[in-house]
Formats: sequence, structure tokens, C-alpha cells
Amino acid sequence: MKPAPFAYLRPSSLEEALAALAGEQGAKVLAGGQSLVPLLNMRLAAPSMLIDINALPDLGHVRVAEDGVRVGALARHAEVLASSEAERAQPLLGMALRHVAHPTIRNRGTTVGSIVHADAAAEMPMVLRLLDGSVDVASVRGRRTIPAAELFAGPLESTLAHDEVAVEAFFPGLAPDAGVAFQEIARRHGDYALVGVAAHVETDGDAVTRASLGFVSVSDVPVVVDVTHALGDPAAKALAELDPADDIHASAAYRAHLVKVLAPRVLAAATDHARSRAG
Ligand code: FAD
Repeated sequence: MKPAPFAYLRPSSLEEALAALAGEQGAKVLAGGQSLVPLLNMRLAAPSMLIDINALPDLGHVRVAEDGVRVGALARHAEVLASSEAERAQPLLGMALRHVAHPTIRNRGTTVGSIVHADAAAEMPMVLRLLDGSVDVASVRGRRTIPAAELFAGPLESTLAHDEVAVEAFFPGLAPDAGVAFQEIARRHGDYALVGVAAHVETDGDAVTRASLGFVSVSDVPVVVDVTHALGDPAAKALAELDPADDIHASAAYRAHLVKVLAPRVLAAATDHARSRAG
């Protein structure tokens, strides 16, 4: 299929993009187009105007500072994945990005676009949520920072206002006594996960002082479950809070089974990771 007709604007400054977005109720931002263009072609979205942000300056950065990694709105998944500094500061970025689609899609799709697209089957919204990151957004009304815990409103729905552009995502760095791990099950490598689980663990010597799990494809929004007091059976605690659903790819029962298999495995891997970093 072909998209419904739309106007197209390629602004060369953020101010111009924000003014256009504020002035056109039916407008949508176009970043890498790897989610939006298929939606247009299937006529599941029919914006009156596309505001292509690819010519905006100063948004392609992957910047590592003491507190973590800042990813600009035009940094492609592949560029974030290629940054060894980013991987050192927050290893979960690389662990998860390797599972995001295929190289061709990662070369064009943006990590920030994936986050604000808010697909509960996507890896990076969950990673941002698990690490307690945030997104900086801009509009003609000014700038604000949205913590990941307040970013995901529902299936494919973020809490950005219509006239806001996400300019940067912030992923906190990994503390010295902390560890992370990620695993997912997909039919083919690069497909969306049937279930994906990440773990973030903090340790003090041999003791695990904090442990949380983030889940992909088992609820409407990215969900994080604190399993600090359920280290013996993290899957039972998680399943009490998750809502796996049947779809054409897998049954709810199979997804629950994958949670039971992956949760303890990923928790153990993150604990080993923390101990190897501390030791
Ligand atoms: P676009 O498609 O340009 O935009 C997506 C949405 O976000 C639109 O609503 C757009 O208006 C909005 N948006 C984008 N950027 C901004 C911004 N800066 N400010 C405000 N709004 C913005 N993703 C995964 O996570 N895991 C996978 O396994 C996976 N597999 C894929 C397989 C295929 C075959 C394809 C085609 C895609 C797959 N993707 C997967 C999606 C891919 O990761 C996309 O890159 C990502 O979802 C969206 O990023 P984008 O830059 O392409 O955004």
C-alpha cells in the first residue's frame, strides 16, 4: 500500500521544527522512519504533515560523561552500538541494542525515536525504564525532562505532548558494584522479542542489595519489577505484576513460561557481572 497524501517539511533549525509542529495539529516528527514509514504505508497513521528532523544540527551525538550516556535524537542505533565508550559506561546499551532489528534498520533507526515510539515490544524503552533514565524534550513553550517512569502512557503512547520533540535521552552509567544482563527469545535473530528480560543488580561484597528486572513484550508498556526480596523466585514476583497476552506470535502461557525461564537466568548473569566488575 501507499501512504495517504501528506505535506513534507525538512527544517534546518530546531526552532523552525518546533514552530511548524505547534502550528499543525496533524503533523508528526519523522526521524529514522523505521517505524513511522511502515505505519504510513499500511495507513495505520495518516498525518497531515511530516516534519523531517534529519537536517537539524547538533542532535547526532553519543556523549559519555561521568554520570552516564547522552544520546541525541539523530544518533542511529548503530552509532550508539558502535561507541565503545558508551558500552563501557553502560554495558546494557550494547547488550540490548544487538537485539534491535537488523543492521540495515539499526543504520537508520534512532534510539530516541524508538524510545518515544513507546513500543512495549522494543528493547530500548525498557532499558531506559530499567536504568531510571530520562528524555529531554523541547517545544515552543520551552524544555523539560521526562523521567522514564513517567514516559510510557500505553501501547505506542508516550507522554510527550503533540508539539514536543525529544532532543536527547539520558542513560545513567553503571555503578562500580553493579551488574546488568539481557536475554531475549525471538523466532529469528532481529525479530521483535517474544519475551525479553534485562536485569540490573547492585551488590555489596557477596550480598545483592538491590535487584530489578525489566521486561519486553509481556505488557502494554515497559515494566520494571523490583525483585530485591524475591531473589529465590524472581519470576513468580514478576508474573504477579505482568500481563502477558496472546497474539499471532505466541500464547500468553508460552510468554509466562519464557518469563519463568529467563528471569532467574538473567538475574544470575547480572549478579555474576556485578561480582566480576567489583572483584
Ligand atoms: P520513526 O519511525 O521516524 O518514528 C517513530 C515514531 O516516533 C513516530 O511517531 C515519530 O513521530 C516519533 N518520533 C521519532 N523521533 C522523535 C523525536 N525525536 N521527537 C518526537 N517524536 C519522535 N525496534 C526494536 O526495538 N526492536 C526490534 O527488534 C525491531 N525490529 C524491527 C524490524 C523491522 C523489520 C523494522 C522495520 C523495524 C524494527 N524496529 C525494531 C524498529 C526500529 O528500532 C526503529 O528504528 C524505531 O522503532 C523507531 O526509530 P525511528 O528513528 O525509525 O523513528
